[in-house]
Amino acid sequence: MGNIIEVSGLKKSYGNVRAVKGIDFSVDRGTLFAFLGPNGAGKSTTIDMLCTLLAPDSGKVVIDGSVLGKDDDIRRTIGVVFQDHVLDPLLTVRENLLTRARFYNITGSRAKEAANAAAEAAGAAEFADRRYGKLSGGQRRRADIARALVNTPKVLFLDEPTTGLDPKTKGDVWRTIMGLQRKTGMTVFLTTHYMEEAAAADYITIIDNGEIAVQGTPYELEERYSTDTMRLKPKDRESLISFFKSNGIKYNEKNGILSLNIEDSLSAIPMLNSIAAIIEGFEVVHGTMEDVFIQVTGKETENYA
Ligand code: ADP
Repeated sequence: MGNIIEVSGLKKSYGNVRAVKGIDFSVDRGTLFAFLGPNGAGKSTTIDMLCTLLAPDSGKVVIDGSVLGKDDDIRRTIGVVFQDHVLDPLLTVRENLLTRARFYNITGSRAKEAANAAAEAAGAAEFADRRYGKLSGGQRRRADIARALVNTPKVLFLDEPTTGLDPKTKGDVWRTIMGLQRKTGMTVFLTTHYMEEAAAADYITIIDNGEIAVQGTPYELEERYSTDTMRLKPKDRESLISFFKSNGIKYNEKNGILSLNIEDSLSAIPMLNSIAAIIEGFEVVHGTMEDVFIQVTGKETENYA
């Protein structure tokens, strides 16, 4: 499908602080792309540059064929949802969407259609005629997303779209985003500090200290940076432990369960064949994106922002 975003040699400093140190990455058209990194890594600086809000010191950004610098072209191509609420609290959601449509020179019946379609896609149609200022956090988030959809963007930038929402609302908004992406084939560029959201992305790029640390699909990153664990319930504990000792295998024991790290699920098979007679059961627990993040950045995900 080709790349819809191409970034090369992108740099930005604030005085002596080298926030983004010459990064290269690309985003495949029609994918859900997660951009992760610990607090202060350079995510906001990068997104602000991609969205034409901040001028880079150097480097090149191309979004759907438009080069950064021709910012009006880029602005027509993208939709942006930042964490701050930008809708007018005194206007209804629909009025906000119509105002936004005018910004793109969409007027008359086309504006009404665009507002309806955006509200529908973001799950905001039900409360479209209520004032934005009176809505719940989850409803506002949907209205924010609807606003970003008015110009039917090819790339939707979402900066921590579910942060601050209660768990149920968070799940609902997340499912809407996933559904929207799958249904329209729109490219979604997402930052999140929820690793379960990142794990649902098609591709992940982790930035750390102004540089790209790793890139890959969630599967590739989990394979490379997290370890699977095999948990064994012994039938004959003494024999199992002596098997581990004689093979130099490190293990932990807790509540009668012996756990050991394994390379991947398949590598468990030969060992299971050898110990089948002395165990009652086993399970393989896969490494998570949480493990990947900690392994790559050396930081817990709570330090993520
Ligand atoms: P993130 O979004 O990953 O938390 P940022 O892009 O906000 O990271 O910040 C990257 C680095 O640039 C940090 O060291 C931060 O302190 C610094 N920084 C960000 N904005 C400014 C600014 N306006 N002035 C000075 N330093 C800044």
